[in-house]
Amino acid sequence: MKDILHKNVLLVGATTGMATNGLLYLTSYLYRNGINALCQLRDNNTSDDALKTNIFRLLIEHHPTLVGVSIKWFQHIARGLRICNLVKSYSHSIKVVVGGNTASYFRYDIIHNENVDYIICGDGELPLLMLCQGKDEIPNFVYKEHRQVKETGFQYIHNHENSEKIFISDIGKIVIEKDDFSSFSYLYINTGKGCNQNCFYCGGSLQTQINTFNRKVPFYRPVKSVRKDILESVRYTDTLMFDFEIIGVVPYNIYEQSFSGIDLKTKNGFFYCWVLPADNLIKLLALTFNKVQLMIDIASLSENHRLILREKGMIKEQPTDEQLFNILRHCSEFKNVSVGFSCILGMPFMEHGDIGAGEEWIKNITDNFPSFNFLEFGRLHAQPGAPMLSTYEDFGMNVPALSFHDYYKVSEMNLEQGSYPDIGHLKYPQITYKDEKLNKAITLHSKNILMMMQRYYREKEKTCLFGKCSLLI
Ligand code: SF4
Repeated sequence: MKDILHKNVLLVGATTGMATNGLLYLTSYLYRNGINALCQLRDNNTSDDALKTNIFRLLIEHHPTLVGVSIKWFQHIARGLRICNLVKSYSHSIKVVVGGNTASYFRYDIIHNENVDYIICGDGELPLLMLCQGKDEIPNFVYKEHRQVKETGFQYIHNHENSEKIFISDIGKIVIEKDDFSSFSYLYINTGKGCNQNCFYCGGSLQTQINTFNRKVPFYRPVKSVRKDILESVRYTDTLMFDFEIIGVVPYNIYEQSFSGIDLKTKNGFFYCWVLPADNLIKLLALTFNKVQLMIDIASLSENHRLILREKGMIKEQPTDEQLFNILRHCSEFKNVSVGFSCILGMPFMEHGDIGAGEEWIKNITDNFPSFNFLEFGRLHAQPGAPMLSTYEDFGMNVPALSFHDYYKVSEMNLEQGSYPDIGHLKYPQITYKDEKLNKAITLHSKNILMMMQRYYREKEKTCLFGKCSLLI
């Protein structure tokens, strides 16, 4: 490959939200290694004209020779590729590199796009730096040479040891929006990577992690790197988000060491809990932060349904109702801790009885547990690489997206809406039952839950830490 050197580099995300925080880690790393790297953390432009104007403005102001586009989430493939197209239409000499989970998973499809020069798969810091430095033999690299697609294979994989040099720094110098940090509702602190579970619906499962990152075991990052992230981030945001656990490893010590001696009393903490948080962890968070939002991941509102999925080995450990109620009771002891739940409707083996049980469950927690404040829910949808994509027929289900083309088509519907939708209105490839009666019942169930929750938010004046919607991808 011809040697190149990119001193000025621009990194942007494909979404209109904040889920491209991985860009901060990449840009920080490049910047510390002598590259004039800048990233745009949030692109609020919802029309194509505004998107184009903004991308051109960034290119004019920062004149990069390399632009990196993060396509992490499959809902935004078309928007990510539209950004690549805009960069190339501005100047064909600018090199375009794409990365992120979805780009890595569909690397053999996306590399054929005429506006994409390279794909960096999996962990990107070192490969991106080597690309900027014009080095050969870049790991995790897919590229085109003489119309042939070539790849170097996964040799760069983060682990506990080599991730020590990966941390957030220099936000005030590397972020485009450096004059206005008010749009950052939160910054995400990455405490680790990977997963050791294979929940059947999940595109972040172990089997997909192996495919897209060659990551066979999850790991926690060194505490001192996490502490650097926190110290840098709290200068620019009031809320830190955490969303990682290794199932089977108690996270208390990691958090305790990460927060120790840092004054976070005026900051809020948003925690996605992959399993039930222990009492001592809840206490630690309550004493550390101003406000704490826990968002506990459960597979179904119906206890019976949750436990059946677990029994069949399709999903990680699931809590009983009593365990959930105990958490809610325990959190009520702290004025600053609220609990939300995140769940999916329409999972396999759902029966009509689970619908009634789910609505009863909502009535119970909204009536009886003041620490509850939010329910995040959505219909089961296809995610690239999820284990169920090869077994859905066994569950009597239809999956509308299996290939890159299928996912692209759905993401194109988002792009073509005129005004790019927020997460609450994005199109997803929804998985349905072959049984139409059950589909209709689940659709009605979804509407009922929405009405119940809206009434609850209104009457009890409840919102989660981020208002109406917790996820802002
Ligand atoms: S849903 Fe399951 S497979 Fe996916 S990240 Fe969480 S624990 Fe891992």
